[in-house]
Amino acid sequence: MNIIDLHCDALLKLWEGKGSLRFADSPELDTNKTRLQKGKVKAQCFAIFIEPDIPSDQKFQAALEQIDYFYNEVLGKNPDMVHIKEWADFDKLKLGQIGAMLTLEGVDAIGNDLTKLHILYQLGVRSVGLTWNNANLAADGAGEPRGAGLTLFGKEIVSFNNKHQILTDVSHLSDRGIWEVLELAEYPIASHSNSRALCDHPRNLTDEQAEAMFRKNGLIHVVYHPPFVKEDGETKISDLIKHIDRFCSLGGVKHIGLGSDFDGISKFITDLEDASKSQNLINELLKHYREDEVRGFACENFLRLRPGVGR
Ligand SMILES: [Zn+2]
Repeated sequence: MNIIDLHCDALLKLWEGKGSLRFADSPELDTNKTRLQKGKVKAQCFAIFIEPDIPSDQKFQAALEQIDYFYNEVLGKNPDMVHIKEWADFDKLKLGQIGAMLTLEGVDAIGNDLTKLHILYQLGVRSVGLTWNNANLAADGAGEPRGAGLTLFGKEIVSFNNKHQILTDVSHLSDRGIWEVLELAEYPIASHSNSRALCDHPRNLTDEQAEAMFRKNGLIHVVYHPPFVKEDGETKISDLIKHIDRFCSLGGVKHIGLGSDFDGISKFITDLEDASKSQNLINELLKHYREDEVRGFACENFLRLRPGVGR
């Protein structure tokens, strides 16, 4: 069954590798092309993520360099990787092709300059999370003790996203930030977050936040990172499915997707260690859910609710 994965950090690894890694098959990449093919990942979102310790005046350059890897290493050397630049492009993927879409994990790279966001949009960014775990000029992240919401600049970014049919991603935001985005964003999404009721971590969403997301026709894409699945011990695929069960119990059966976080994590769910194992999750889901429901989680909920189509 085809999968659309809303989050991976392969671009960060490619950038850190300074040209030493091949997207086609380097084993260091959980989401290399060979593994995506084996796992039947039909489309993969590639996050631009800038480490907080990169000096502010070098962050935009670092973002452009990661985009350069996207264009030249991911797309340029692999004709079967197809750039998803418009929402309708998902419908044009042919057999054997894999779609690739750029996303932005935290707006630190643009400083206070919306022109830079416009440039990133023109280069193909179609989902923008305001923060990573720390604070920036747009908002506070989930790890920022201050716990503030959006700045005026953060609200301008959400308006920009609304105007350009860009998803606004709440994964990594502070609680207050999540509520404000849910109020303001036309296209809210959580690209890689689980249920806080099952695993009490600030990166996860409360039941109330999840319900508000579903009411807004948004999506929650569950993340495979063990610390967001279960507090300790071995983490199994069945533990991840409990998060899907929880979101379904809140009315989310048509609002759930997948957001692996591969290449951004170093601990793994057993039997879900890289993209090539993705069908293990699908097969386990098929034991618990109807096929059409699993198809929804795997890709169809996202396709139905993507901007310009379902909302
Ligand atoms: Zn992340």
